[in-house]
Amino acid sequence: MESTATLKRLCRHCGALLKNASMECWFCHKKLEYADIIRVEEKDVDCVEREETTEHDRLSDNHNSDSKTKDVQSEKHIDLGDLYFKGRFISGIIIFVVSWIYAVIHYGLFIGIGLGWIPSLVIAFIGSFIWPLLAVLLLLFLIALGIIVFFK
Ligand SMILES: [Zn+2]
Repeated sequence: MESTATLKRLCRHCGALLKNASMECWFCHKKLEYADIIRVEEKDVDCVEREETTEHDRLSDNHNSDSKTKDVQSEKHIDLGDLYFKGRFISGIIIFVVSWIYAVIHYGLFIGIGLGWIPSLVIAFIGSFIWPLLAVLLLLFLIALGIIVFFK
């Protein structure tokens, strides 16, 4: 892609842009040797700049798509965290109610209802931390129970 049509010629002495092909600078009026003329391939410089810009745009586009992917991933991560906290809230309530009922059954209505909510709250608070594990164990328990009932 060699094009000499857009070759810019500058005077080495004064930096003036040489508009014609004459070997004398129109500005400083010095006789110009071949070495006195600075040749700048204007188009090529533009091309390089444009390519650099395109490259930069492409890179920034990639960066944008990367950050978009990261956003999506972080959204998924937030969703998982959100799911965890929702599950923790729900399982906490379930564990609390089940524990309180358990206390009422074992310690009677008076002590069970009166004091059973205190350990139930603690159990629910601690138990809800590992609710996904408890959910898996419950699922396995139900599967095992199903198998036992089925083969009985
Ligand atoms: Zn000059």
